[in-house]
Amino acid sequence: MERYDVVIVGGGVIGSAIAYFLAKLGRKALILERERMASQASGAAAGMLGAQIEMGLDTGPLFQLARFSRSLFPELSTELRELSGVDIGLTQKGTLRTVYRDTEVAHFQDMIKRQHEAGEKAEWLTAGELAAREPNLREGAYGAVYIPQDGHVVAPELTKAFALSAVRLGAEIREFVEVSSLMLKDYQVQGVLTSAGPISCNHVILCAGAWSGRLAAQLGFNLGVYPVKGECFSVVSARPLLTSTVFSDDCYIVPKPGLRTIIGATVKPGSFNRQVTLAGIDQLLQSAKQVLPSIVDAEWEKAWAGIRPQTADGLPYLGAHPDWQGLTFATGHYRNGILLSPATGMMIADVVNGVATTGVDIHPFAPNRTVQV
Ligand SMILES: Cc1cc2nc3c(=O)[nH]c(=O)nc-3n(C[C@H](O)[C@H](O)[C@H](O)COP(=O)(O)OP(=O)(O)OC[C@H]3O[C@@H](n4cnc5c(N)ncnc54)[C@H](O)[C@@H]3O)c2cc1C
Repeated sequence: MERYDVVIVGGGVIGSAIAYFLAKLGRKALILERERMASQASGAAAGMLGAQIEMGLDTGPLFQLARFSRSLFPELSTELRELSGVDIGLTQKGTLRTVYRDTEVAHFQDMIKRQHEAGEKAEWLTAGELAAREPNLREGAYGAVYIPQDGHVVAPELTKAFALSAVRLGAEIREFVEVSSLMLKDYQVQGVLTSAGPISCNHVILCAGAWSGRLAAQLGFNLGVYPVKGECFSVVSARPLLTSTVFSDDCYIVPKPGLRTIIGATVKPGSFNRQVTLAGIDQLLQSAKQVLPSIVDAEWEKAWAGIRPQTADGLPYLGAHPDWQGLTFATGHYRNGILLSPATGMMIADVVNGVATTGVDIHPFAPNRTVQV
């Protein structure tokens, strides 16, 4: 039987990041992906690194993890380009949260205060300052929150860069191989059963995105990961529509390299269905038009859907199985898996290696935590 040190189940951004950071520690991993690499949520993401905008008033453990992860991107971008030749498209032009209702002004100014207390940059732009910065936005805003450090990357390129860099450092990847179950004996992981036969190993890392719960269930372990479908579309314009990413009430608009703009995303819990619906696209277009009227003049590019892995309390599951030696979970990153991928990769590589190096407390993300909703 084939033997590996570490088998990673799932070739999304999380599995690829873990393989990369393990490889940097000299640990050889095999990624098993049942389709193509980045074919699920990681290829569908808009790529925002919304450490502050996504957390709002929450400055708890997820915020700490998110801002640590965001801080890793500038160096990572250079490192991955040198190893893989792939440019992850890191863009650091900030994110805006537009405010068109006077009743919301106090809430968003409170958010700025909390961000300052947490040591982060955030500022209130008046209507005039917003118009000067983003002249294509609809008039009538009361202002906006500007977060200079929330940038974005090209999501599918990030997974590719992690995966190719990991391979460069000794990892292996097999696409179109499905893991059907885990081989377990005496509370120790022995390997995995796959569509290409059994593979033995010392460690299995479960990062199968929204599908992680199914494999965990075999162990009688209710991981509580559930799917949340999201649809997006993109357009191409003759001139840049925006400089910064814009969040509004019902959508976000992300200016990408090459005059592309991504508009996202719908939220449909409980669905593994990846069909793009007219209702979803219509909802996004109506919302986008409210903020950026000139979007209607842009050329249609494409639409797509992906399945986000969500958990009951909104925190990812990161860490070792409480009973089974050699089994580690890294899943449930919901809307922020791209942002959280470097921190997750580092922390899970540390779990396998038995030495914590990041200074970020992993315990709030324990897979066996008591989930309070
Ligand atoms: C529309 C949309 C927009 C998003 N925008 C952002 C954003 O702007 N910023 C951000 O940070 N995040 C964003 N996200 C969230 C982000 O995409 C996810 O959190 C992240 O991709 C999860 O990565 P993953 O590797 O856990 O899962 P996935 O990318 O889903 O990868 C899991 C992989 O496991 C494979 N697999 C499953 N079961 C098996 C098996 N039994 N054997 C072998 N392989 C298996 C699957 O085929 C899949 O490729 C967005 C998501 C969506 C859907």
